[in-house]
Amino acid sequence: MYNPSTLYKCLAITLLILGIILFIVYFYTMTIEGYYVIEVRVENTTLRTIIIELPRDEYGEPVYRIIGFTSTITSDGESREIDPIITNYNKGYPEVIELPVNLGEGEYRITGKFKIEEKDYFYNYSEYPWRLYGGDEPVYIYPSIKKTITYQLIGLIKQYSQPIIYTLSIAIIGLAAYTIYQLGKGVLYQQKPVKPLPPAAPVKKCKWCSICVRFFKIDVTSPNNSQLPGAFIEKLYSLLNEVNDIWKKCCIRFYPCIDSNGKVIARTLDPRKTVEVKVGSGFAQYGSMKIKYDIIRKVDTSKIFKDNNCKSIEMDKGKVNVNYDEYIKAKWDTSGKYKDKEYRKGNAVPADVLKEFLNDVANAMQRDPNLREELEGIRDAMSKITPQRSWGEIDVMDVLKELIKAYGYAENCIDIVIVDNIDDKSTSAKEDGFGAEPGRISIISSRVVDNGISSVLAHELGHNLSLSHINELGNLMEAEITGTSLNSDQCKDAYKNCMGEECRKFTSKVCDNGDEVLSKFKEKQSLIEKREKIKESIKGLNEELGKVDEKSKKCKKVVSKLKKEAKDAEFIYKKVKSFADKIKKLKNKGKVKEIKKLKEKTEKELEKRKEKEKKYLENPRFYKTSLSITQKWIKILKKQLEAIKNPDKVVKELENEMNKKKQEYKECKEYAWSPNKIKKNIKDKIKANEKALKDLEKKIEELEKSLKK
Ligand SMILES: [Zn+2]
Repeated sequence: MYNPSTLYKCLAITLLILGIILFIVYFYTMTIEGYYVIEVRVENTTLRTIIIELPRDEYGEPVYRIIGFTSTITSDGESREIDPIITNYNKGYPEVIELPVNLGEGEYRITGKFKIEEKDYFYNYSEYPWRLYGGDEPVYIYPSIKKTITYQLIGLIKQYSQPIIYTLSIAIIGLAAYTIYQLGKGVLYQQKPVKPLPPAAPVKKCKWCSICVRFFKIDVTSPNNSQLPGAFIEKLYSLLNEVNDIWKKCCIRFYPCIDSNGKVIARTLDPRKTVEVKVGSGFAQYGSMKIKYDIIRKVDTSKIFKDNNCKSIEMDKGKVNVNYDEYIKAKWDTSGKYKDKEYRKGNAVPADVLKEFLNDVANAMQRDPNLREELEGIRDAMSKITPQRSWGEIDVMDVLKELIKAYGYAENCIDIVIVDNIDDKSTSAKEDGFGAEPGRISIISSRVVDNGISSVLAHELGHNLSLSHINELGNLMEAEITGTSLNSDQCKDAYKNCMGEECRKFTSKVCDNGDEVLSKFKEKQSLIEKREKIKESIKGLNEELGKVDEKSKKCKKVVSKLKKEAKDAEFIYKKVKSFADKIKKLKNKGKVKEIKKLKEKTEKELEKRKEKEKKYLENPRFYKTSLSITQKWIKILKKQLEAIKNPDKVVKELENEMNKKKQEYKECKEYAWSPNKIKKNIKDKIKANEKALKDLEKKIEELEKSLKK
């Protein structure tokens, strides 16, 4: 449909308002006030009445359209009111006014006010005096008229509004015609390509918390650290966009991390690597010297997988049993001398020195029974100076985190590790994801990416942002993930965690680029969708074009038949409708008897026609015309009988049938007689679509290029 621009709307509304104001002012009748003074001197006689004759203009119209009139006589400081008598009218306004004054000898002053309806601003009232009769000769007086500022202003508008109103009327009519034309165009050429819509605005205003996300796919078949295939990355983009739709109510967004070469970080990861996982730490003091140590477990990462190809990860609440070497790594925590040798803070403690140092600490502790527990710790540490091979539980997340680090990826907010299969012993349900809670690492299965199961990734990210499982149907954080809703408490907690130290340092330019990548990708997706639609439409139009000639041939054969059918349908409809109207009227009046009579009459008529039909059918070729007329009437009569029961339904059905027939005829007529016009229309549509397609292709290509840099 035609969509007018804002400017156009404003213009139309302003013109309309202006027009309305001017029209009102133009046809508004104002009243104005005036007053008059008559000085009278009576000598040797009495004066019974004063007659005021009001003037006419050159067309015989009243100049003063008086609608109110008062009169007061003052003499020697006394005054009395007089009731004026109107003795003659002109066009409904007083023309002759009599004042019954009854004055004896003396000097009098007659004053009064009057109200007139203003019709014509152009009167110069001073040119039209009142004529007064009292004595022998008529006298003329000039009343005063008050013209206020408002009056003058409105008068001014009135004076000049006529040309303005004409201009405005023309402008408004023009505007209306243009609008109708545009609307018609919208209806006729709906195929017209629509400009791509700008990406939808976020629902509410957000102070966004943005989190960078890296993707690592466990893969032993490709070389480590190779970029994942483009198609796979596009799936990840889609997934992230959907995850963002879920999380936008909390004002949290996840972006793909971009490396310094502008490439999105979505890489393969070979898990066949030994990593060191810190599982504990402690410190020990001897004299003035202090050491700090970490308990380390050295694990072959590939061992956390069930199979040799590292496709399946098997966990129990995020833990897995593996072989590992456990040992301690110590550093000096102070600078100073130990056994006559200088050491500096931060340097590693050599194994033999460590052994001696811990031994000294243990010996010193031995004397104090209160330090028994600490002593245990020191002894345990001593036993791990040389690596000890053990079998036991280790945190999968810790191992994977160290693996990522071991391949040289500095910490960068959230890492998503993609594995082919997750097998969690702690739940019976098939697991597709696991997220550290809270933490900055999640695992998802390939299935999640391939099938775009965004709720799973959104859920695991929720764990990363400190959210635990909740029992609320439809909530994203339900253990079984039944929905994608998040309540305000969850939003608050997640947001707080998101804005916490751990991620703040990463909400940098890197993330902003990720945002751009993601939104460009989204735009590309929508353009591709549009492109497919247009392609389909072109295909449909071409098919239509190919069928025009054939259809035209067919229509030429049947068009006259269709015309007759349409006419017949109209005839039947009209006959039945008038009958149904009659029935309805009778029903309303409750005339049951008459309805019955009508029914009997119709039934009789039907019988008669059926008899005739039988006769005609004996020689149908001979009676062709009569037969067709009779059959038409049989249908009418049958429908009329039906209409007695349900007039509205029958009429509606017949109307639909008639419209269908008419439409069929109209369409076929066009195909039969002007196939070239139809062809041209279709071709025009195809052309417009092809142009739109070209534009789209260009845009998609541009986006593609900017996404691949
Ligand atoms: Zn969960």
